[in-house]
Amino acid sequence: MARILDGRLIAEKIKQELCESETAILAAHPQLRILYFNTPASSTYWLAQKRAAAELGIAVGTGQFNNAAQSSLIQQWDVSQRQLEDIIKIWNEDPHVHGVFIHQPLPPQIDAQRISALIDPRKDVEGIHPQNSARRFFAKSRIGSCTALAVMRLIEETGAHLEGKEAVVVGHSEIVGRPVSMLLLDKLATTTICHVGTDRAGQLKEHVQRADVLVVAVGRPQFIKGDWIKPASIVIDVGINVVNRKVIGDIEFETAKARAAFISPVPGGVGPVTVMMVMKNTVEAYKLQRKNAKVTHAG
Ligand code: NAP
Repeated sequence: MARILDGRLIAEKIKQELCESETAILAAHPQLRILYFNTPASSTYWLAQKRAAAELGIAVGTGQFNNAAQSSLIQQWDVSQRQLEDIIKIWNEDPHVHGVFIHQPLPPQIDAQRISALIDPRKDVEGIHPQNSARRFFAKSRIGSCTALAVMRLIEETGAHLEGKEAVVVGHSEIVGRPVSMLLLDKLATTTICHVGTDRAGQLKEHVQRADVLVVAVGRPQFIKGDWIKPASIVIDVGINVVNRKVIGDIEFETAKARAAFISPVPGGVGPVTVMMVMKNTVEAYKLQRKNAKVTHAG
C-alpha cells in the first residue's frame, strides 16, 4: 500500500524554509500580480494563491488598476488580446511589481504563446517565458516552471535517487509535461514522454507499466488505470478534473495506491505545492530584479 505524498504538509515545509532563509526579502513584501478568470478552477486557484501569499507577507493584487480594462479581476470571457497585453505591459514596467502570473487556460480568442512571451522573463513566476524555457533546456533555470518544480519536490520527498530510473511522463504541454521531462532528465532518469500519439498507437499501457516514476498531466479523469502501475513505483498525478462536483485526478487512485510505493492524491497533492512554488518563484524574481538593478547601477 502506497504512502501518500501529502501536498499540504510539503507546502507547509516549503513555507517554513522560505520564512527561515528569506526573512529579509519577505519583510520587504515582494509584490505579485495575478490575472485570473471567473471560472471555478481559476477562482479556486486564485484564492489558494492569495492565502499562501498572505501567510508569507507577499503582497497580491492590483490596487492601482481601477478601471475594468486594467483590473486583475477580469470578470468576463470576452477580454481581448490587447486588454491582456496592456495589463502585462503595465506590470512589466512597474518597478514595484516583482512577479506576474497569468492563469491558464486563457480564453480561446487569446494567443497564449504571445502572452507568455510578453511577460518580463525576470517577473515570470510561472516559468513560461521562452527565455525561461530555453534556460531550462540548458539546465540553467533562474525561475523554473512552478508546476514542474512542485512535481520534482514531491518526488524528492520520497528520498528516491532518480539516476537510471525509468521515468514516464504522460502529457507534453508547455506548462507541465515538457518542463517536468527536462527536470527528470537533469536527474539522469531515463525519461519517456507519452502523448496523444502514444495513446493512438496503443502503447500507453506498455510505457506506464515500465515506470519507476510516473507523472501524469493530461486532464482526463481516471485516464490511467490502477492496474497499469508498476509495483513499488512513485506516482504523481497532476490532473485536476471535476466529476459530479468532486475533484479527481488523471489516475485511478485506489487501485494505483494498492500497487505504488508513493502516490500523490488529488486534491491535496501537486496543487498546494505548486501554489507555494509560485511564492518561492516570486522571492527568486525579487532577488533577480534586485541583482540586475545593482549591476545596472554599477554600470
Ligand atoms: P494541456 O495543455 O491540455 O495538456 C494535456 C496534455 O495531455 C497534452 O500534452 C496532450 O497531448 C496530452 N493528451 C491529451 N490526450 C491524451 C491521450 N489520450 N493520451 C496521452 N496524452 C494525451 O493540459 P496541462 O495544462 O498540461 O494540464 C494537464 C492537467 O493538469 C489538467 O487537468 C490541469 O488542470 C492540471 N494542472 C494541474 C496543476 C496543479 O498545480 N495541480 C497545474 C497545471 C495543470 P496533445 O497536445 O498532443 O493532445
